[in-house]
Formats: sequence, C-alpha cells, structure tokens
Amino acid sequence: MAKIGSASRTSAWRGYSFVAVVMALATMLVVASLLAHQAAGERDAATRQLRATQQVLSATSELEIQLLQAVRGQRGYLLTGDRMFLQPFEKARPQIAGRLEQLEIATRGDAPRHEMVGEIRDKSNLLLQDLSDTIANQADGDHDGAVDRTAIADGRRRIESVSASIMQFEQSERELLESRLASANAAAAETENYQYSLTLVGFLLLALGISVLVSLKRAVRRESEIRNELRRIAATDELTGLANRREFLAALDRAVAGAKRRRAPLAVAMLDIDHFKRINDTFGHPAGDAVLRRVALTAVDIVRAEDLVGRLGGEEFAVILPAAPAQSAFDVCERLRLAVQSSDLELETGSPISVTLSTGIAALGPHDTAESLLARADQALYDAKNGGRDRVLLAA
Ligand code: GH3
Ligand code: MG
Ligand code: MG
Repeated sequence: MAKIGSASRTSAWRGYSFVAVVMALATMLVVASLLAHQAAGERDAATRQLRATQQVLSATSELEIQLLQAVRGQRGYLLTGDRMFLQPFEKARPQIAGRLEQLEIATRGDAPRHEMVGEIRDKSNLLLQDLSDTIANQADGDHDGAVDRTAIADGRRRIESVSASIMQFEQSERELLESRLASANAAAAETENYQYSLTLVGFLLLALGISVLVSLKRAVRRESEIRNELRRIAATDELTGLANRREFLAALDRAVAGAKRRRAPLAVAMLDIDHFKRINDTFGHPAGDAVLRRVALTAVDIVRAEDLVGRLGGEEFAVILPAAPAQSAFDVCERLRLAVQSSDLELETGSPISVTLSTGIAALGPHDTAESLLARADQALYDAKNGGRDRVLLAA
C-alpha cells in the first residue's frame, strides 16, 4: 500500500513538472514569436529607410549631372551663338525641377535635411536664373555682356556653391545610410536569432509531445494487460487452473443459447471423485490437492479442444461438450473414467493412490435451460453414486 502511494505520488510529481515544462516552453514560444515579429517589423522599417536614402542619393547625383548639363548648354550657346547648343540647358531645366521636388518630398518631416534641400534648391534656382539671364543677353545680341557676366567670379561661385551644398548633403545622407544599414543588419540578426529560438522551442515541444504519446501508449497497454490478468484471475480456479464455477456457468449459458439457435446437440457432464474425503483423511490434504490437479489435467487431456472443463467446487468437476450427441458424450466420459482409474498417482512417500470417478451426463432437450440441463446431469451423477460409483450414467 505504501509502495503504491509513493508510486502515485511520484507519477503525480512527474505530471506536475511536465505541465510546468510545457507551460514554460509555451510561454517561451509566445515571447519568442512576439519578439521575432517585432524584430521583423524593425528590420522592414530599416530596409524601407535604407531604400529611401538610396533614392535620395541617386536623386542628388542626377541633380548634379543635370545642373552641369544646363551649364554646358549655356556655355555652348554663348560660344557659338547657335541655339542648337541650348538643347542640354532646355532639357535639364525640368529635370532639375523634378529632382528638387523629389528631394523635398523625401526629406519632408525631417527639418535639418529639409533645410539642406532648401538651400540646394535656392542655390540651383539662382544658378538657373543666372544662366537664363546670360542666355537672354546673348539672344538680345549682347554677346559681350553675356560673356562678361559669365566670366565674373560670381557666376562661377554659384556653381561651386551648389556643388558644395550637394556634396555636404550627400555626405550627411551617406552617414545616415550607413547608420540605417547598421540598424537594418542588427534587426535582421535579431530576427534570425529569435527564429532560431522559435525553432528550438518548437522542437522541444515536439519531442515532449512524442514522449508523452509514447508513455501514454505504454500506460494504456499496461492497464489493458492488468485488466486482462484480473479477468483471467477472476475466471480461473486457483488450484487446477480450470474455469471456476462462475466462469463455467456463464459459458454454459452461452453454449445452451448457441446450441438452441443452431439446433445443434449439446451435452453437459458432472464428475465427482469417489470417496475423496477418504483420500484426504488417509494421505493428507496436500495429497488430495495433487489428486484434484491430476484429475483436472487428465480431463483436459481427454476432451476435445472445443470442450470446456470447469471445477464447480471441492472434488466436483463439469464438462460442456458442444455439438456432442449423448452417445459421443458418454464415450468421452467413459474414456476419462478409465484414464483416471488407471492413472497411478504416486506420492513422494511412494504409496500409490487409486482414484475413481462417478459421472452423470445430460443431453440438451428442447425444453432444457442451462439450469435444468445441469440439474439433470447432477441427478444422473447422484444415481451413478448410488449405483456403486466408478461409472458413467446418462440422464433419462
Ligand atoms: P462421494 O464418493 O460420495 O463423493 O464421497 P466424497 O468423500 O468424495 O464426498 P464428500 O462431499 O463427503 O467429501 C468431499 C471432500 O472434499 C470434503 C472436503 O474436505 C474435500 N475437499 C473439498 N475441497 C477440497 C480441496 O480443495 N482440496 C482438498 N484436498 N480437499 C477438498
Ligand atoms: Mg466425491
Ligand atoms: Mg462431492
């Protein structure tokens, strides 16, 4: 009892710790998925910012090229007086406006950067204005005025000034790009780590699930083995291993019902060892037990495989003989009687014990029940005893 108590306490503890482990793992799973989700969001935001910065940088380099194109067009026109050379200037102007607008939109909401873009825009417009003015001079035939205006350092400084502002802006954008790249990489690494933990926890849960399944299966099998063993013990006579009275009577009920359904013959025999009390008195109770076991063994050996031998109690046995007409049941019991009679049981002391059997047989009639069949066999057994024992009698 103490052993069972401690075993169930141990398995209860095992159950509690299992639940605790599963809950801990499930919590880890939830936390890791939340963190992974968050890290993935951060990584996406960083990637978006990265792309935006790259676009800004490509817009500034395009702006610079277009400004140089505009200057090139103006110079070509001033040098040749041919309007054909103005083409790069004309083409560059809308491009410059477009790039400036793109930069303004991209830096909106970021005051310092927006301010820098404003500066670039003002300087670019001043430069364009300057270029337009000199082109107008040239168009008005004032070639010298145009060249003079262009030649003065003021005009040159404007180009340098725009370039310097663009370079400064690009430098700060590049730094921004670098820091965003670093944070994107960090977020990606973090996401990866959380994904590894998720996989690990998932595997642990899977392994736990499998081990629970295996032990559950084992427990179910053990329980069914125990149940089968209990059923066998409940149905078996301990001394002889035969069906006990309860099991035999249940089997007889089934056999009678089956025989009636199939309209098949059925016989039942009741056997009682003669003067068994004398055997007990003469050789002792253990010797009596040995006789009971020997008779049981002989009976099982003689009857057919489909016949069922049971011990009804004491030195009384019974056999169900399905599909056996009265005569063949009689023959089987006669063979058993002779076998018991001639089996010389020897004790350890060497003294032989002679054992005989009285048997009553009843064949199933149309009005028989299991009880009436058994009662008729019992009556035949009683008659066999009265008729002198060591004989087989068929009930009327
Ligand atoms: P009869 O020929 O009329 O059947 O006489 P009997 O002595 O065989 O019948 P009785 O009913 O007078 O005696 C049966 C004896 O069987 C009495 C009882 O002590 C003994 N007995 C019952 N169960 C067991 C058992 O399990 N082992 C042993 N050794 N003896 C048992
Ligand atoms: Mg007896
Ligand atoms: Mg008896």
